Amino acid sequence: MKKEYAVVGLGRFGGSICRELNKEGMEVLALDMDEDKVNEYRDIAAHAVIADSTDESVLKELGLSNFDHVIVAIGDNILASILTTVILKELGIKSVTVKAQNDYHEKILRKIGADHVVHPERDMGKRIAHNIISNNILDYIELSDDHSVVEVKAGDKMSGQSLVDLDIRAEYGCNVVAIKRDKDIIVSPMATEEIKERDVLIVIGADKDISRFEKNLV
Ligand code: ADP
Repeated sequence: MKKEYAVVGLGRFGGSICRELNKEGMEVLALDMDEDKVNEYRDIAAHAVIADSTDESVLKELGLSNFDHVIVAIGDNILASILTTVILKELGIKSVTVKAQNDYHEKILRKIGADHVVHPERDMGKRIAHNIISNNILDYIELSDDHSVVEVKAGDKMSGQSLVDLDIRAEYGCNVVAIKRDKDIIVSPMATEEIKERDVLIVIGADKDISRFEKNLV
């Protein structure tokens, strides 16, 4: 059965999610209290609705309880974001992703049952900062407050050597969980796997360890 998605709040973030889901062939219900915003999404979303998401009866009428995943992308109005999340969880939606404005907002969202909390500006800032440190750092994903995953180009510092030669686990406390080589992906590579210059390594570890790994090998 096809999954049903709804995006609440059609600012830059919610709008972008809506466009991408549509591009991937998903049916999306797009909701915003601002008529102009909703009009922008009439041709993109399967349903575009003008409504206040803090009004429980409206969300019920729209049948939101049947949706698999709802994204709450309300920006500055933290109270509206919290209220909307409470209502959506009360309606029994299994997966609710909410954009947080700051750490306090995140804490409350987690307490009231938000399934995923995202900080797009903060996370993108981190990714860009790591990419500025080295062009070989392709991506940086935070797993928790002190653990991350980085995607790095092998470059000439690592190419020609095996994982055991580089001693990444013992020396830096990080694990290479996969190597992307052209179109292939080697999951859980052997310690003897020799790294090629154009390989991309997916490395997981504590931030302080990843930081040492980046400084010395990337
Ligand atoms: P971004 O930073 O992603 O651009 P914005 O703060 O600009 O986010 O956009 C948030 C959107 O959420 C706005 O379009 C606003 O109209 C909408 N919004 C805010 N409160 C509600 C609400 N209670 N119900 C529906 N939409 C809302």
